[in-house]
Amino acid sequence: MRIADVLRNKGSAVATITPETSVAGLLTELAVHNIGAMVVVSPDGVVGIVSERDVVRALQRRGAELLTQPVSEIMTSMVVTCSPEDSVDSLTRLMTENRVRHVPVLQNGRLAGIVSIGDVVKTRMEELEAQQEQLQAYITRG
Ligand code: AMP
Repeated sequence: MRIADVLRNKGSAVATITPETSVAGLLTELAVHNIGAMVVVSPDGVVGIVSERDVVRALQRRGAELLTQPVSEIMTSMVVTCSPEDSVDSLTRLMTENRVRHVPVLQNGRLAGIVSIGDVVKTRMEELEAQQEQLQAYITRG
């Protein structure tokens, strides 16, 4: 299965935020959208990614003053991305090797979606269920 198939099911919407937004603003957005990471964009395109883990780590280090600081202070600038043509298997490897749970999808340099580790697990479960149904049908047909 390809990333494009995953996006066909879940849609291409990506929650984004600007680097100037405060960490408090980021927390509001994460809560409103019920997600764990946001892609950071500027007029030039994707400039980073920031996840709940970044907030937790920085909050532990810096305390409550962090909440008024801009997202750019805690985001990761070297963003690991994939393309719609990539396979879900290669994305799984990418997530494991880079220890990330969210990977933005880029097509011709533009944001075309985002895939989380939850989406990967859901896709795998559906594949396994379909395989099981096929096997059961094969066995009962004799
Ligand atoms: P996550 O596992 O997505 O919660 O993120 C864990 C750490 O990896 C955080 O420091 C994130 O900023 C960073 N991170 C998450 N996704 C990516 C990505 N696609 N590329 C680079 N870093 C990422």
